Amino acid sequence: MAGPSVFIDTQNPGEGVTASTRVSNNYTLNNFNVSGTCGQGGRFIYIDPRAVLGLERVASALGTRPGINSGYRSPGCNRRVGGATYSRHMSGAAFDIAPPGGTENRCDVVRACRTAGAGFIMTYGRSTHVHCDWGSSRGESHSESGLSC
Ligand SMILES: [Zn+2]
Repeated sequence: MAGPSVFIDTQNPGEGVTASTRVSNNYTLNNFNVSGTCGQGGRFIYIDPRAVLGLERVASALGTRPGINSGYRSPGCNRRVGGATYSRHMSGAAFDIAPPGGTENRCDVVRACRTAGAGFIMTYGRSTHVHCDWGSSRGESHSESGLSC
């Protein structure tokens, strides 16, 4: 299994490719092109194959396919949603994962992301999702912020 390794023009994704084309066991291209209040993350999107693999491992650990609140974000979208300056969403390496069954199950996602080798896991306030990323510049280190799970 491998995710796309180039920018994809979502308005012209290539012969035989549509928004509903499956890019991994559980997810389609369209599932990754979401970003909260932006609607779509951008016309041109990039998803890090390691993050796709990580997300599939999260689904395996949870035993179900979690929803994605935010995947790829263009720099403009990232600014509009108040994302971090160097947000991993802009490099396609981060997913905001909705806990199956509701917000009270956020720790299930935190633990699943740990199992899936995420480099950084974050929850904050009463957020309805868990941010998990597989960004390369964090190297092999692992850090977490927010809930103690
Ligand atoms: Zn995030």
